[in-house]
Amino acid sequence: MQLNDLYKDIILDHYQSPHNRGRPPQADIEAEGSNPLCGDEVEIYVLLDGERLQEVRFDGVGCAISLAAASMMSEVLEGKSKEEVGNIGELFKAMMHGEDVILPEEMEDLESLKGVAKFPLRVKCALLPWTTLEHGLANEDAGHRVSIEVD
Ligand code: ZN
Repeated sequence: MQLNDLYKDIILDHYQSPHNRGRPPQADIEAEGSNPLCGDEVEIYVLLDGERLQEVRFDGVGCAISLAAASMMSEVLEGKSKEEVGNIGELFKAMMHGEDVILPEEMEDLESLKGVAKFPLRVKCALLPWTTLEHGLANEDAGHRVSIEVD
């Protein structure tokens, strides 16, 4: 896979020194997502403050793309309202499907995943944390951990 070096550095940095990694003592939302094609298993934990995501954490095993994407997502979404999360998710998905979107400055790390759009199998890796989070938010009232498998 050929990625621009700067972008590769940002991805590797998030992979090697992840932000917000580790299961928190308590969470309002717990969701796990798996991407069997690559072997990625990502867990997403959200602490809510009303309509806002006070804290987003993740854990799991997977390739550099999936774990770096989870680390970036956790940073970008902290403190955002559910509505903002939906909007940011749509932008990110559009970018990963090769659309020419302009991301807000605070999302610049996410832009490093843009080059991954050329590799369809890897796109699933980058989207896995987002799909998992959305599944968790959609099942907020479940009262237990929910899981989703992408194919
Ligand atoms: Zn992967």
